[in-house]
Amino acid sequence: MQDIKELTLQELENRLENFGVKKYHAKQIFSWIYKKLTLDFAQMSDLPKGLRDKLNAHFFISGLEIARKIKSNDGTKKLLLKLADANFIEAVIIPVNQRLTACVSTQVGCKFACRFCASGMNGFKRNLSCAEILDELLLLEKEVYPERLTNLVFMGTGEPLDNYEEVLKSAKIINSSVGFNMGARRISISTSGIIPGILRLAGEGLQIELSVSLHAADDKLRSELMPVNKRYPLKELIASCKAYSDKTNRQVTFEYILIKGMNSDLKNAQLLVRLLSGYKLSKVNLIPSNPVSGLGLEPPDKKNILLFKDYLFKQGVNVTLRRERGQDIDAACGQLRLKYEKN
Ligand code: SF4
Repeated sequence: MQDIKELTLQELENRLENFGVKKYHAKQIFSWIYKKLTLDFAQMSDLPKGLRDKLNAHFFISGLEIARKIKSNDGTKKLLLKLADANFIEAVIIPVNQRLTACVSTQVGCKFACRFCASGMNGFKRNLSCAEILDELLLLEKEVYPERLTNLVFMGTGEPLDNYEEVLKSAKIINSSVGFNMGARRISISTSGIIPGILRLAGEGLQIELSVSLHAADDKLRSELMPVNKRYPLKELIASCKAYSDKTNRQVTFEYILIKGMNSDLKNAQLLVRLLSGYKLSKVNLIPSNPVSGLGLEPPDKKNILLFKDYLFKQGVNVTLRRERGQDIDAACGQLRLKYEKN
């Protein structure tokens, strides 16, 4: 038995043909699951009864259990989800203006131990499958129904490019017109800077948004904040991002968490300008640090944040300042799961 959500449309068409069934039924099945959010073959009323029996004999449609649901004052909604093996992951809905953005996890825990992140604190457990990633999105779609999610970020727990195959497969189904039908430009993969993954993604022929967690513009500090930098240092990382932009003609966003007393003074701003100089298709997204209990990190005061931003702006960097969302509900990645696992 296999979860049918592990299959792309073409794979499902092939399986149906092997059953001696017309392949156009695959599109109907996709529509039931990803558009009508139906997880029961018995309810797929336009499929012949014989096909529904065959589907039941060979496939199942998994679903996740909502262990906890909390809503922030700003509308951000976080779901703690229980997997079939009793592990927990988090998924978030972020409403901003006309957009409803889903933020999904790609791994249980994380190997990369970034200093500012709660997700890596309990280490890595396992990769999520394509079906489990799609399950997150299906649940989030149900939460916003009758509206639809407009955007997706692979920015929850885990490093998406460390689970490349499953993430890419799910992204293709999310992008597919018979799947969630979400435009590639509305799908964003956020990475800590896994260079082989960035280069591989550049060759996929997809217009997916790439966002890179930078957080420091010199190797010493970045390696302290993000141990992954020892393996993939800044010069090579920026070169791989430029290669991504060249190949896809897409802008790459560099996320920069501003942490008091660490990476937020003028010297750091100057290093950042130098690092990105001449990189036209780049953007810096500044994020005041989210206080995570146990990590002892704080955001700089408002004046410093604005000085940092203004300096970048005056030097010609395309810069935005992100408003922290969901602070009252521990919306930073991994925080809720961590709390839940400790209790
Ligand atoms: S920021 Fe991303 S890569 Fe770093 S520990 Fe957290 S989940 Fe892992």
